[in-house]
Amino acid sequence: MADITSVLKEKRVFKPHKEFSRNAHVKSLTEYKKIYQASLKNPEAFWAGKAKELHWFKPWKKPLVWEFPNAKWFVGGKINASYNCLDRHLSSWRRNKAALIWEGENGEERVLTYQDLHREVCRFANVLKALGTMKGDRVCLYMPLVPELAVAMLACARIGAAHSVIFGGFSSQAIRDRINDARCKIVVTADGGYRRGAVINLKNNVDEALKETPTVKQVVVLQRTKEVIHMQLGRDHWWHALMSEASAVNEAEPLDSEHPLYILYTSGSTGKPKGVLHTTGGYLTQTAFTTRWVFDLKEEDVYWCTADIGWVTGHSYVVYGPLANGASVVMYEGAPNWPDPSRFWRIIEKYRVNIFYTAPTAIRAFIKWGEDWPRKHNLESLRLLGTVGEPINPEAWMWYHRVIGGKRCPIVDTWWQTETGAILISALPGATPLKPGSATLPLPGIDAAVVNKEGKEVPANSGGYLVIRRPWPAMLRTIYGDPARYKKQYWSEIPGVYFAGDGARRDEDGYFWVMGRIDDVIKVSGHRLGTSEIESALVSHETVAEAAVVGRPDEITGEAIAAFVTLENGHVPSEDLKDLLRSHVTKEIGSIARPAEIRFTDTLPKTRSGKIMRRLLRDIASGRETLGDTTTLEDFSVLARLRKEEE
Ligand code: ATP
Ligand code: MG
Repeated sequence: MADITSVLKEKRVFKPHKEFSRNAHVKSLTEYKKIYQASLKNPEAFWAGKAKELHWFKPWKKPLVWEFPNAKWFVGGKINASYNCLDRHLSSWRRNKAALIWEGENGEERVLTYQDLHREVCRFANVLKALGTMKGDRVCLYMPLVPELAVAMLACARIGAAHSVIFGGFSSQAIRDRINDARCKIVVTADGGYRRGAVINLKNNVDEALKETPTVKQVVVLQRTKEVIHMQLGRDHWWHALMSEASAVNEAEPLDSEHPLYILYTSGSTGKPKGVLHTTGGYLTQTAFTTRWVFDLKEEDVYWCTADIGWVTGHSYVVYGPLANGASVVMYEGAPNWPDPSRFWRIIEKYRVNIFYTAPTAIRAFIKWGEDWPRKHNLESLRLLGTVGEPINPEAWMWYHRVIGGKRCPIVDTWWQTETGAILISALPGATPLKPGSATLPLPGIDAAVVNKEGKEVPANSGGYLVIRRPWPAMLRTIYGDPARYKKQYWSEIPGVYFAGDGARRDEDGYFWVMGRIDDVIKVSGHRLGTSEIESALVSHETVAEAAVVGRPDEITGEAIAAFVTLENGHVPSEDLKDLLRSHVTKEIGSIARPAEIRFTDTLPKTRSGKIMRRLLRDIASGRETLGDTTTLEDFSVLARLRKEEE
């Protein structure tokens, strides 16, 4: 199979500011390169050094046992994630440091210090135990973005039960399938949560799901919205009633390093959700380490990752990574545009947020809403920005840099996946010169490469498969209950290495540019083109806020490019604009990438985590019925509207 042709010509470079570098954990590119090279010579020693920064009840015997494709990290060691995120901070002044700074969508505010959080977690651990939860059980958490969600996670981790968090936007059907797949014994939920001013009735969804989940014996219900809900006698219990009687003394269980920490179902941009299993010691080592280095975390920082805890980003970079570091973490329950599009900027100003980590889909929405909203707020506390989830178009990067970062904040574009558990490719902000649209370089300990189908590295600037050639501590251990699928899905496509679906190229400096998912590659006249480069060319036009491109069958060229384009506020769709955009793409990246067709649309079909679902657009562009799973689609009406616009 041919490699992927790269057409993007992004040349801007932003060097770290001297002042930033001087205070950073890693201070120069030379320093990074030295650490990186040493780490690849002896990855086990490198990771063992990072693991030692955590608290272990019992040291490990071997850092790694690798029997392809199964890794065990820190074998024989005993550890507890909850202990590392809480108890460890109680012996110093940190016990009175803010751990969670929470704001509800309705304006409520709560701050929990490490001591407060520890107390709540201990009590809930006792609640879980009293309800019969045992080490090794699975607990389903279906909650709004409230502190109690973090409490429940850490309580599970404390007693050695694996949590399976289901994003609060999922339907009863999705809950049912995930509960049954993991055979959960207990569900923790809430009466409801707030989203864009409306109450989302979570308990009703749970009730519906539990009609077909034989393993669930107990339900704990947090009172959040005070809606009238159904409580089933003997099965359903109020959180506050159980907590009021629970003791605040609970010893964290010393667990095997490979003890399951959680199961998380991937968002499913490509199809049926998979239960990704993460374990304890390696996962915590790598999430703690990457939080510190990638976000250049300092003791006094106020850190805000806007992800919902229902996604892996929330697990690794709202809960485990930051709390293991004793950070102050901002949590906001609701929508970015409630009551108006300045909500995020008000939160940054109010809590003097220093580190802000969000997703390209949010950034594109900010761009669409216009820069007047952030302009009204003082964002000077920010010193570092981050992005994750999709390739970021260089022009969106520039907007983020200029409007939110005031041209002073480095942006870390972090590439990773639910399966990788932690960030694998990212700039280190004091060391790495930034290139808009590139995730830059692999982190120490990570052997990332771009290869062809045979596993051979492709030359600089040609596209190929993004792979990881050696095991890393936070990697998934299996797909829950399906080891064969684990091997087939991740370790079989390219011989001997991990491949989870992304195409990329490395430039002459070794920088990684993710070109989109391999499944989305478009084949035009013998060339294979990645989606992100063409989309970036469209977004670089001043009228465009967001774009998605897909291939549709074409008799002459094999496939032709169809582009779905959302305009910035204030611009009007027209035939002239279509021509203009087509010429713009030709001018930016060449005639091979010129879209055969452009369609304007207000919204694109996205997963509930905000990622564009191109496979659905493919069906629409080629006039087919939608095939495959759409349960992870955020808004079903989008499909109908897109089909209508076509008529
Ligand atoms: P599924 O695997 O079920 O289809 P998903 O891949 O969207 O869902 P995640 O694990 O949340 O689920 O997302 C990981 C993917 O997101 C990566 O494989 C990549 O395609 C994309 N991604 C994440 N971060 C970046 C980034 N910084 N640059 C480019 N792409 C990114
Ligand atoms: Mg994926």
